[in-house]
Amino acid sequence: MIVTSEKPFDNILEMVQGKKVGILGCVGGCASLYNTGGKEQVESLSSRLSGAGVDVVFASTQGRHCTLTDFTGIKGSETLGESDVILIMACGVGVQSVAGLAEIPVYPALDTKFAGMRFDSELAERCLACGDCVLHLTGGICPITRCPKSLLNGPCGGVYAGKCEVDRTNDCAWILIYKRLKELGQLDKNKTIKPAKDFKVMAHPRKFTEAL
Ligand code: SF4
Ligand code: SF4
Repeated sequence: MIVTSEKPFDNILEMVQGKKVGILGCVGGCASLYNTGGKEQVESLSSRLSGAGVDVVFASTQGRHCTLTDFTGIKGSETLGESDVILIMACGVGVQSVAGLAEIPVYPALDTKFAGMRFDSELAERCLACGDCVLHLTGGICPITRCPKSLLNGPCGGVYAGKCEVDRTNDCAWILIYKRLKELGQLDKNKTIKPAKDFKVMAHPRKFTEAL
């Protein structure tokens, strides 16, 4: 899940002040599931912008923006032409997807935080898309994301009482991995030193065609 949050309202206002604005939410995608880009949030932003004197000419939603290939079927798309700019309530991928299709400027209403999941009462970062997943070796706990040093062999010498030296409010990922492997009867996986990660596979920008 791509975790997003709405930009500070003043920042959004600054982007669109004096313009005719269209707003597009991303229904069925990550932003709507976590209540940052669904119908309700589109209506809320529309009403706040209107209240601040912005001319909102279009406020609608569309299925996942990251899979859009054209504007056909966007509810209310006939009014898109009246907009000077489109504000997108989706992650940065969704914004770029729409920006590649629209003939007018497309601006982000949300900030994209990370790829994560719900954990306890928080949304927590869980994957850096490293391109070479090692979760089968680490009890399903990602050391690349959850260890600030992305260590493939841990813990480091800074661990204290199970907490990470970089942020003592966080559990050390490698203590969690050790405990989980023990529960799974897979501690043997921790006995061999894992080779250094090839970070070249994370070089930007990455491309992938096999899934298309
Ligand atoms: S190892 Fe971690 S960062 Fe890499 S793909 Fe797996 S979950 Fe994502
Ligand atoms: S204490 Fe644990 S999580 Fe923190 S940097 Fe060291 S190995 Fe990584």
